[in-house]
Amino acid sequence: MDPYRGGLATGICPRCNKQATSDGELQRMRCLGGCGEFYPRARLAQHVEWSFIARPPRPRADGSSPVASSWPWGAAPCPVCRADMSVGFRANLRYDYCTQHGVWLDAGELSQFASLFVDD
Ligand SMILES: [Zn+2]
Ligand SMILES: [Zn+2]
Repeated sequence: MDPYRGGLATGICPRCNKQATSDGELQRMRCLGGCGEFYPRARLAQHVEWSFIARPPRPRADGSSPVASSWPWGAAPCPVCRADMSVGFRANLRYDYCTQHGVWLDAGELSQFASLFVDD
């Protein structure tokens, strides 16, 4: 099944497990509880090189991995396929992404994400 055919369907919010619904125009999926938004890969690829998003984070100056730092949530499930999403880091932004389906941004992260990845 192609989740993009006919627009993104509804999914499950990776944070609160409530329903997330798609925005027909922007093709994003938004948690009804306000946790954040999921941007499908096909949509992001119009603005961003996907390999840049999915690139593993660089180790910190002291050699430790930023992924190992404490975080209140475990791996978040992709709203589309429910597989554990990977974690990406850029600057001070931490985001979750599914290599197949797209990027989850918690509420408030969008502007930071846009300034890091989208320049238009
Ligand atoms: Zn939610
Ligand atoms: Zn997925």
